[in-house]
Amino acid sequence: MTKLLEGKRGLVMGVANDHSIAWGIARAAAEQGAEIAFTYQGDGFGRRVEPLAKSIGSDLLLPCDVEDAASVKAVFERIGESWGKLDFVVHAIAFSDKTELKGRYADTSRDNFVRTMVISCYSFTEVARHAAPLMTDGGSLLTLTYAGSQRVMPNYNVMGVAKAALEASTRYLAADYGELGIRVNAISAGPVRTLAGTGVSDARLMFNYHRDNAPLRRSVTIEDVGGAGVYLVSDLSRAVTGEIHYVDSGYHIISMPRLQALKA
Ligand code: NAD
Repeated sequence: MTKLLEGKRGLVMGVANDHSIAWGIARAAAEQGAEIAFTYQGDGFGRRVEPLAKSIGSDLLLPCDVEDAASVKAVFERIGESWGKLDFVVHAIAFSDKTELKGRYADTSRDNFVRTMVISCYSFTEVARHAAPLMTDGGSLLTLTYAGSQRVMPNYNVMGVAKAALEASTRYLAADYGELGIRVNAISAGPVRTLAGTGVSDARLMFNYHRDNAPLRRSVTIEDVGGAGVYLVSDLSRAVTGEIHYVDSGYHIISMPRLQALKA
């Protein structure tokens, strides 16, 4: 049987280690025949990403700090030189000062608000602008979001505001690039134990609450997100764009936890 991503080339941004959501998507995409390039943030992460990349036959690893516009531009220049074209990009990047991922949103500082927005939201727009000219046969841009964008999640604070802006960006970018055959979507993942995921205060509590109250009564794995990622970067989703696709065991449909859970 032909693999879903045979002949496609994709860039995956945001692997920190083998627990990263981006790694779950990269591995699933490689299993479906895609050729993958990676970016990494700084040498420390680079050393962790290299063996992972090698394990799926990838040798195109590029440094990229999205706070530095020149480093983002350089990545796409290198992709252009090496591959000439690009079929998909996975953007799985977010950051906020840990000391502000607790307490009240109202206390967010101006500096951290701006930094969180630039890294966690604007970078996707900048990436899209550089990637689009390489997507000569159309393409797929995918980012990662969380339901704290839509409803208030304790401690998620400024990150929720950044994710709301990221989701709006997904729709605006989908409208801008649709006529070029470039699709833009986001996966809204349930809580996963990753470096970024555990940076939010009381993450364990949130994780267990989600697991116990989601319709499927289970947590989300990076393999779950990987499967949805393959769908969204493959031709299976060729008429899907501007979509926020939930991979959260159904948690987002619940308004009130089971009454048994409240009585316990
Ligand atoms: P992770 O820590 O494994 O990945 C976060 C990545 O962001 C890291 O690779 C880090 O290097 C990168 N990054 C941060 N600042 C950067 C910068 N300035 N330049 C370049 N890269 C930078 O954690 P993860 O949970 O896999 O996060 C990936 C995405 O998934 C994030 O957007 C996150 O918000 C989102 N997400 C996570 C969860 C969860 O519960 N873990 C749930 C929903 C959405």
